[in-house]
Amino acid sequence: MNTQLETNLIHAGEPKPGIMGAVNVPIFQSAMYEFSGESKDEFVRYIRYNNTPNHKAIEAKLAVLENGEDALVAASGMAAISTALLSVLSKGDHLLVQDRLYGGTLSLLNMQFERMGIQFGAFDSQLNDDWENNVQPNTRAILVESIGNPLMDVLDLKRLVAFAKSKQIITLIDNTFASPINFRPLEIGIDVSLHSCTKYINGHSDIVAGAIISNMELISAMRQTLINFGGTLDPHACYLLHRGMKTLAVRMRHQNESAGKLAAFLSTHPAVRIVNYPGLPSHPSFNVASKLFDGYSGMLSFELHGGETAAKAFMQHVNIPIIAPSLGGVESLVTRPALTSHSRLSAEARERLGITAGLVRVSVGLENSDDLIHDFENALGKM
Ligand code: PLP
Repeated sequence: MNTQLETNLIHAGEPKPGIMGAVNVPIFQSAMYEFSGESKDEFVRYIRYNNTPNHKAIEAKLAVLENGEDALVAASGMAAISTALLSVLSKGDHLLVQDRLYGGTLSLLNMQFERMGIQFGAFDSQLNDDWENNVQPNTRAILVESIGNPLMDVLDLKRLVAFAKSKQIITLIDNTFASPINFRPLEIGIDVSLHSCTKYINGHSDIVAGAIISNMELISAMRQTLINFGGTLDPHACYLLHRGMKTLAVRMRHQNESAGKLAAFLSTHPAVRIVNYPGLPSHPSFNVASKLFDGYSGMLSFELHGGETAAKAFMQHVNIPIIAPSLGGVESLVTRPALTSHSRLSAEARERLGITAGLVRVSVGLENSDDLIHDFENALGKM
């Protein structure tokens, strides 16, 4: 039977029958399992091999969610990203990325890849098809994000896929900000989807975890890389991720709706200079996001007319959101990317990317939408 996302979140990948009749997959906190080599086909089970019942259940569920052939969970979003990239790139290869990339990914490229002899270059997300100007004869892979942080820009991903396929370049996307509810990259031909499950997929701000979803061949190579580098997810964290995932659809739909309402409110407020939310018709990515996505996510950012001073005052006066980095949890969060996710960039680099000191990023949680709007209205009224 062909079932929908909501049903798959609950039932896909679950062991049938349940282990000793358990409705949930219990935590298998055992580093190794009995093995006497009686069957050559049987692989030794060991936590680092990502093959405990806890790993198997969530990997099967993740693969179904994004219509992949297979999936892999990892110790963090960065473990997923580094495992995936190191599986497809070798010394002398070139990786092409979009310029507005999560700061941690940029650090990985700058601090590790360069010294390993893996070259990389960035294309300008604001220029149409700029990947064509930056591709190199040795470009082996392209890495992008489904929603760019922190200005929430969305690339014309179908054009990018067509270009990459014409050059036999592997495409990888960090789909953390959109989540599988709003976007399933493999459906448009992207080869590898990556997640920081720390964010929406787990949704409760209590673990770090990552995921890779792709075809059998690539996941098999990435599984080996993960085993070699040791970036596995502990079974207890697997259990929490499994529990969090089951409510992803209801959480994400509320967050989509609430962020849409908050973005619309902010865009009419006289103190607000600009709102970045791909669900607003005024956003440069509105048309492309509307074609690709089933929802626009719970992430938005905005700038006030009063710049940095006003942003600081806003953060002091707003009550419901917690001032903290990260995103995708049940609680709303506000942060200034210039001080957090993009603090490692020079002021000039931030300026070039349009990340001003006064930019405020919001991760909309599961609070009542009207309460949030009133809280923002109140804080803005105090400036
Ligand atoms: N990708 C994106 C878009 C992120 O925002 C983050 C973390 O903030 C990561 C990847 C890294 O995830 P983790 O912190 O789980 O390693």
